[in-house]
Order: sequence, then C-alpha cells, then structure tokens
Amino acid sequence: MRRRLSEKVSGLLASMSCLLLLAGCTPRSAQAVELQQVPTPIPMALIEVVPLPAAEPPATSPVEAEPAPSMEEEPLRFTFPTPVAEAVSAWRPPLVPVPWAMTPYDHFYFSRPIATDAVNWPSADYRYGDFFPDSDIVHTGVDIAADRGVPVIAAASGKVTWAGEGLYKGGVIEGDPYGLAVAIRHNFSYDQQNIYTIYAHMDRVDVKVGQVVEAGEQLGIVGSTGKTTGPHLHFEVRIESNNFFYTRNPELWLAPPQGWGVLVGKMIDRYGFPLNKIKVKVISDDMDKTWVVRTYGPTSVNKDDFYQENLVLSDLPAGDYWIEFRVRWKDYRHKITIKPGMVNYFTFLERPGTFSDTLPAPGSGSVFEPAVLEPIVNP
Ligand SMILES: [Zn+2]
Repeated sequence: MRRRLSEKVSGLLASMSCLLLLAGCTPRSAQAVELQQVPTPIPMALIEVVPLPAAEPPATSPVEAEPAPSMEEEPLRFTFPTPVAEAVSAWRPPLVPVPWAMTPYDHFYFSRPIATDAVNWPSADYRYGDFFPDSDIVHTGVDIAADRGVPVIAAASGKVTWAGEGLYKGGVIEGDPYGLAVAIRHNFSYDQQNIYTIYAHMDRVDVKVGQVVEAGEQLGIVGSTGKTTGPHLHFEVRIESNNFFYTRNPELWLAPPQGWGVLVGKMIDRYGFPLNKIKVKVISDDMDKTWVVRTYGPTSVNKDDFYQENLVLSDLPAGDYWIEFRVRWKDYRHKITIKPGMVNYFTFLERPGTFSDTLPAPGSGSVFEPAVLEPIVNP
C-alpha cells in the first residue's frame, strides 16, 4: 500500500521542498466558500479520491459483513469525562473545501459533522488515542462538544450502512456503548480502500440503512445515548473495514479552517518505541495562547499509513510555535512553524535528543513502521 503511494509520489519529491508550487485545481462546485486566506489550492490529481462503482450488493441486514469484535474486548470508552461547555464565541475561519490535500500525503476528505454555527471541533480533553487517567482504555474517535439537539450532518457523501442502536456489538442492542449511531460508507475511497465515518450518542437518528446522503445532510441530533455522561458527538473515521479496530485519527481527515494547519508528531523514546502519554505544550507567543495535547497511549489506536504519528493537534492558526515537554525529568523545547491547510510534521528522538521537521522519504524502512492493529484486551 505504501509502496504504491511511494511510487506515486516519488516523482513529486523533487518539488516537495516547495509545496506551494503545486498546480491549482477546481474545488467542488457545491463549495461556495470563499478562499481568501488559503495558499495555492490542491492539485486534485494528487488526491486519491476514487469514485466507487455504483453497483453494490443490496444490504440484507444492517449488520456489516465484518466480524463483530469480541464482547470480552472493551477497547473503547465512550464516557465523556468532563463535559465542559466550550464557548462558540471564538470566531473561526470557514473550512477549506473538501477534499483537500496540499501534499501527496494529506487527506482532508471530510467536512465537519457539526455545522459551523456550533462547536464543531474536537474536545481537547479527550482526543483520539487518549486515555482516561489510570485506565488502559483508549479512545478511537474524537468528541465534539456540541449542545444537545444540534443537527449532526454527514461529513461527506455516501450510503448509510448503520442507523440505530447496536453498532458496536453488531446488532445486540442492550448496552451498546455507541447508543443511537449512524455509519456511512463513503462513495470514494482511500488507496482503494473503503472509508467509513461513524456518528454516535445521538438522541435521534433521521436516516435509514441504504439511504444515500450528501455532504451536510442531517443524520440526526446530538444527544447522550449509549455510554456517555453528557451530550456530545463521538465521531470516527475507519479505513478499509467498518470496525473499530480500523479507525484513524479524525483530526487528520477533517478539513481545517482556512489559514489554519495541523501539527503531527512522531516522538520516539531511547529504545525506539513511541513515547506514550507525554503531555506536550504547544505555545504561541504571538497569540499568548497555549494548547496542550498528549501523545497516544501505548495500545490499539492506528497511526496514519504515511506519518506513523503518535501526536496530532488540529486547528492551529498559521504561525510560529514552541513545543515543550518533559521526558524522564528532562525538558525539551523546539520551535515549529504551522503552515496553513496542511500537516506540519516533526519527529523527536529521545536519544540523542534531537528534533527534525523533515519528511522522511516514503518507503524508507528506517523511519516508517507498518501500521499495527493491536486490539486491546481489557481484563
Ligand atoms: Zn468519544
């Protein structure tokens, strides 16, 4: 899979040092968003959005064909730890049109599942790969703290493959942690694999299995069904299979606001393993503002096929930032620049204690590891 990607991009690497030279494209006609702050648009040829064949076998059951996960395994936590209401007052630029990718590695295919007139960004308290304190239970999506009753909308077009209770346990309704949920199989693919998005904890579902929906179409309303302590939307992106073992970090798939970018880090300890649960401060002197994000926990979330990251922080206005964190009683500090509309990547190696902002060559086995799908068994 990566080999094919590397073949595709190998000819482009020479120009990667100057990404903004990439040729222009035409955004989707449905997008009426004015692009005033966005640098050179994407070359659509680089985006691997391949329409899927229209003919699909009729759904005989709302249950997907993939094997249901064992009920002994409980790798998901749906409880919303601290439902803190975030103010909507902070003005945000409109989103870039989707699909959006300024590099051959990016894949911002989805608009937000909540409209821009409400909280539509991931809660900072509980991101993908985050853990509850003193818990081995990992979070396989992002939580969006919109108010109860706010419309939940399709992040892109596709067909509804699940609508109602029982998503997690494959039809067993009682105690399903997702509550009232919708799954969409999108009518485009990534690297020839199906893409699914999941919308959970809704108070009401407004679509049926088999229904074809367009981006922005209402799927239901924000609620608190399933395992949750407060109303919010749990949103997942799944690649290849509609199963929680196949999730990816939604912050790498949701379109950023215009002029804003995404920070992605790969932080490796002295033994060559990912640094887990490290609290990282991202500090903007210009804005006098600090973001806090943690590296992924030790188990069970999937890294991006290309970046192999263990830290993602989206929605950062373009500009200069300091990254600060502590590993084994030693403090580290590194300056980064967030460029808009794209992933901004860094690596940190505890030994010898160095940073790099350079994207490694695709396919170089010394840097990238294969994505590992490790289900957590939670006793
Ligand atoms: Zn969640």
